[in-house]
Amino acid sequence: MSEPKTTLPDARVSPRFAGICTFYRYPRLEDVEREGKAVDWAVYGAPFDSGVTFRPGARFGPRAVREASQYVKVHHVGHDVTVTHALSLADAGDAPVRTYSCAENDAAMTAWARGVGDPDRTRLLAFGGDHSIALANIRATWERRGRPAGGLALLHFDAHLDTVDAVWGERHGHASPFIRAIEAGYVDPRRMISVGIRGPLNTRTDLDYAKEHGVRVATPEELRSGGPGLLAEFVGSLGGAETYLSVDIDVFDPAYAPGTGTPAVGGLTSAEGLAALRALAGVNLVGADVVEVLPDRDPSGITALLAAQVGFEALALGAIG
Ligand code: MN
Ligand code: MN
Repeated sequence: MSEPKTTLPDARVSPRFAGICTFYRYPRLEDVEREGKAVDWAVYGAPFDSGVTFRPGARFGPRAVREASQYVKVHHVGHDVTVTHALSLADAGDAPVRTYSCAENDAAMTAWARGVGDPDRTRLLAFGGDHSIALANIRATWERRGRPAGGLALLHFDAHLDTVDAVWGERHGHASPFIRAIEAGYVDPRRMISVGIRGPLNTRTDLDYAKEHGVRVATPEELRSGGPGLLAEFVGSLGGAETYLSVDIDVFDPAYAPGTGTPAVGGLTSAEGLAALRALAGVNLVGADVVEVLPDRDPSGITALLAAQVGFEALALGAIG
């Protein structure tokens, strides 16, 4: 087997329950950079939840996911890829958040994310935090990719559309990241799919924005009847376009992901969601986030474990892409 590009402690020598807790036990970015090496993907936390419209607590998400990720191993069976051999990976720590202001947080996170690792090479995987943090990671990704005209393609997994113009006068909350990203040209709505969308909605017009802007919406029922092939077909239609993946953990049913702030029943099982993510093979993934893990509502830790697995799926897609 080839030399690994990411060096981890050997779990059969140094136990997974020991040592400083980084995402997936990856080395810290500053340690990798001190050796003069660049990384392919930097994983970081965004402990911000002041953008929520219901139950707070996702600010503790990154710590919970770091903890849960200690037991996520390195070889992806479905894709037959060892991510630590294919990719150089590191934990970049946590973004500097501005807890009292969504807009200031968005600006501070963006300024930081612009400079993480090697902007020409390193791709960013962010763990939230509420979904508002996605906007900063998408913006930074778009800029780091050279501001592609037309914007990035977007694979969005969520119970909710997150294209609400404003809630309580706030335009940067967790209900609005994608309307802001589309308005700014970071994302092309005609190359965007929102998977797992389900009601009840606030109004019957909530779906109008998607219809008017060409966003493909797939309900859990559609995913069930169409199967993961629906995603493979969508990825095929992108023709290798630079694509961002945003996963709100509430796309999963609360039976599988109870630890989240705006749960919606009738969501995906963990097996359905993972099959859908694996069907994205071949996507040109340039950035990702996994958001809305709320540890206080996650007594057995299954939501954080699922989020850690979802992040691993994203890295595996990056490894084979
Ligand atoms: Mn949601
Ligand atoms: Mn969301």
